[in-house]
Amino acid sequence: MTVELISVGTEILLGNIVNTNAAYLAEKIAVLGLSCYHQSAVGDNEERMEDAIRLALSRSDIVILSGGLGPTKDDLTKEVTAKVFGKKLVEDPHTRERIQNYFDRIKNPDGITSNNWKQALVPEGATVVDNHNGTAPGLILENEDGRIAILLPGPPNEIKPMFERDIAPYLNRLQPEGIYSKMVKVCSIGESRAETIVADLMDAQTNPTLAPYAKTGEVHFRVTAKAKDEETANALMEPMIEELYHRFGDKIYTTEEEVTLEEAVVALLKEKQMTVTTAESCTGGLLAGRIMNVPGASLVYNEGYITYSNGAKEKLLGVSPGTLEMYGAVSAETAAEMAEGAARAAEANAALSVTGIAGPDGGTKEKPVGLVYVGCCVNGKVRTERFLFTGNREKNRDYAVVRALTLLREELICL
Ligand code: ATP
Ligand code: MG
Repeated sequence: MTVELISVGTEILLGNIVNTNAAYLAEKIAVLGLSCYHQSAVGDNEERMEDAIRLALSRSDIVILSGGLGPTKDDLTKEVTAKVFGKKLVEDPHTRERIQNYFDRIKNPDGITSNNWKQALVPEGATVVDNHNGTAPGLILENEDGRIAILLPGPPNEIKPMFERDIAPYLNRLQPEGIYSKMVKVCSIGESRAETIVADLMDAQTNPTLAPYAKTGEVHFRVTAKAKDEETANALMEPMIEELYHRFGDKIYTTEEEVTLEEAVVALLKEKQMTVTTAESCTGGLLAGRIMNVPGASLVYNEGYITYSNGAKEKLLGVSPGTLEMYGAVSAETAAEMAEGAARAAEANAALSVTGIAGPDGGTKEKPVGLVYVGCCVNGKVRTERFLFTGNREKNRDYAVVRALTLLREELICL
């Protein structure tokens, strides 16, 4: 079966927003074993949108449209699709009630403006998919040739949960055998080493299949099974996941698609009732930012330090001038004192420090660009690691952050 994507919104054509929905949907569709041969973007214009929808329906089994489902005049996706399918718009009482409840819940001071009720209108005969994170429902329409249009809201925080919860299972049901997958995420190991460890599994793969993806400082393995339902798929995937656990052990931090490394680390800190702080030089707050990506990070993080200059390292973290003089700011000794000093200053159980040369300038023969030391202090015990990254400034800083999180995780699981 073929799926085609149409991203709706003039702001996409003008480059005002990046079309992340298309990237998200394309990846999900591939994982579901469906083929996507065409993608397009169209502005909030009735005529051109109609042309785009007709063209897509002429050559693809399923057309997924994202955006333009909102309450305002320029949101036309539903109206135009209904016209193409020859359907009238009728009010869906269930959606009207859901919108009422939504506004009651968020206690919008403006109340419900009349244009919001536009979102309770649906094309006659369409399947309504509840939006649990906004007002506009998703809609599924089918024409007499069995061609399908799926309309999804534009905001990423609405489209993603809706796709996971309702659209992916719906697409799976359309196929005689659905595709189900799990993501086994591994840290503390390089890509080539990880691939060698599973080379025989990759050679022997049939159902489930195993595919590696290198991420910055991590390796993810997608385990994919083809089966008539999710339960059968899980039974097929289980031995493969067990085998991966057997080979990677506690280097696996999750088998859940949505769980990130920082979430796994924050969960460990919470479990052990510990707090963490950060002392950053070349990463300038990126590491703290990653930790604060996690909802509820305030339970484990109180304060942190950006100490870019030597003076700041002395003043805020108590790094000794002698250490800086003798070994330099980019050294294992400085990283260790930064971590110890941060833990002390923040009164935290654990501290991570990062000091390095992100580039492009500032490298020397002894201390080249990409040289980074990461320090980790847990309950007063310090460990440092030296890395030589080979990326540009941005990549080197990203790698340093992941290595720091990995180091903390390694120390925490040993406790
Ligand atoms: P709303 O009810 O917010 O109006 P909508 O379904 O009408 O939602 P749009 O008006 O097209 O969707 O877009 C709303 C916002 O969603 C955009 O301003 C943008 O932030 C985000 N968005 C829309 N389309 C995309 C896309 N293709 N990729 C990433 N973000 C998008
Ligand atoms: Mg809109």
